[in-house]
Amino acid sequence: MKDHTQFADSLALYALSAEALDNAQERAELEAHLRECSECRSELESLRGDAALLGLSAVGPAPPRRARQRLMAAIEQEPRFVPAPPRRMGVLRSRWFALAPIAATLVLAIFSLMMWKQTSTLRSRLDSARAALAEQQVQLQDARAVLDLIHSPDAMHKTLVSLNTKPLPEIKTIYSPEKQRLLLVASSMEALPAGKVYELWLLPANGGAPVPAGTFRPDARGNAIMDMPLAGRLVAKEFAITIEDAAGSQTPTMPIRMMSAG
Ligand SMILES: [Zn+2]
Repeated sequence: MKDHTQFADSLALYALSAEALDNAQERAELEAHLRECSECRSELESLRGDAALLGLSAVGPAPPRRARQRLMAAIEQEPRFVPAPPRRMGVLRSRWFALAPIAATLVLAIFSLMMWKQTSTLRSRLDSARAALAEQQVQLQDARAVLDLIHSPDAMHKTLVSLNTKPLPEIKTIYSPEKQRLLLVASSMEALPAGKVYELWLLPANGGAPVPAGTFRPDARGNAIMDMPLAGRLVAKEFAITIEDAAGSQTPTMPIRMMSAG
């Protein structure tokens, strides 16, 4: 029975693929030993893992002869693996570990990038939320200030009007068909051209033609009073004003200048 230290070379080849160990007797001995030796079995698993990581595993194309020789040469240079635990870190394992810092750096870089993206997204959301809140606070303060002003006990409420607008012309008529009398009071009337008068028309409720109801000229301040008898007991619907020649007219000359409103 061979000691398992003697299987080191065979084990490394066997780990690459069973066929790589082309000496049938050697392979049979190794397989017999593996059935009995758990230490070699776990070393085989470990070597298979290394081989797989380096793309030399039995799956896929067989490892090229040179790679196998290099592997064998490397194993030759290693101290014999007997029980010492550091031997379990075989040469393949050390090569893999040489790559580990690069892989770790890559993982760390990707992770850092993800964290940075997430952080900057969160930060910009927080910034816009803060801006919206600040804006709302300003609006709220404005609204509160306006309410305070309105409800302030010493607040003076005044309404201002234009000082330039001329007062609108206005005429009041009081008419009684039964008394057959009409009173007109005019104010703020526009001045008339020479030879013209304002003429009042009674628009009958029966829909008949407008009836002349007197003429007048306002004074310098635009005021006028007309008090006149109006025969016929006509029921009036509305009154209207036109501008006519000084003698007055029997039919209104358009346009109508003023009209009673209901
Ligand atoms: Zn063994």
